[in-house]
Amino acid sequence: MDFIDQSTAFLSSPIFEWIIKGALIYLGLLWFSVVLWVTRDVINRSNNVLFQTMVILTNIALPVFGLVLYMIIRPTKTLTEKYYEELEYNFLNEHEHEESCGRCEKKVKSDFLFCPHCEEKLKEVCWSCKHTYLDEYAVCPYCGKKEKSATRKPQAEQKKKQSKKTKK
Ligand SMILES: [Zn+2]
Ligand SMILES: [Zn+2]
Repeated sequence: MDFIDQSTAFLSSPIFEWIIKGALIYLGLLWFSVVLWVTRDVINRSNNVLFQTMVILTNIALPVFGLVLYMIIRPTKTLTEKYYEELEYNFLNEHEHEESCGRCEKKVKSDFLFCPHCEEKLKEVCWSCKHTYLDEYAVCPYCGKKEKSATRKPQAEQKKKQSKKTKK
């Protein structure tokens, strides 16, 4: 019976009380920092106020479960990461659709038929299959048909060369 007596004496001793208090304070701080971290993280990752509130409230009410749940459903990318990814994507796309005019060398979009700066004809629209292709091609690369006004083409090209020479 000595052991039980000792145990009950220990349980009612001030040392045990301190250990319990210390543990409670530690758990309280842990809970508080988890809530703080989750709050900051969810604000970085989502713009949805309802989602933010739900996540924060779950973590306040159900400490461990709330954190595990949040780690499962949290968005993989922060809003800043998303923003830069979009920026990069738009940048790449813009430059993919850009070429330079053969005459004035200014930037033109790849679907332009004429250069808006110097009025140079850039692309031909096939009369047969309606595809657009480079003006310098002799035949449509999609269906092989010749341009209807093909007979005029060599002259036009000579003119181009002449105008280039006179310009310089
Ligand atoms: Zn041009
Ligand atoms: Zn064609």
